[in-house]
Amino acid sequence: MDSVQIRCTRCKSVFRDRARRLQNGFSRQCPTCEVVLFFDEDSQDANIRRAMKTARRLRALLREAEAEGMTRRPEASGRRSSGRTRASTRETEPTE
Ligand SMILES: [Zn+2]
Repeated sequence: MDSVQIRCTRCKSVFRDRARRLQNGFSRQCPTCEVVLFFDEDSQDANIRRAMKTARRLRALLREAEAEGMTRRPEASGRRSSGRTRASTRETEPTE
């Protein structure tokens, strides 16, 4: 989900790497032909540029999902525990 498809400049094989790692200055070896690919948004390779763009978009989505998860998590757990204890607390808690 958080990985980006990268097409090797040399052998054209496709592999994946994490969006978080695909930033300007990042480099990695192709698992197939072992050529080292340099990732730069201004790369001459359209495949690299596309991967960088995808990674950037994915990182934004991940940040959004994370922020959402942080605000939702306590609500979800609270709902679950209140559902479990509702029967016993209903009589002791005064209604607002
Ligand atoms: Zn390759």
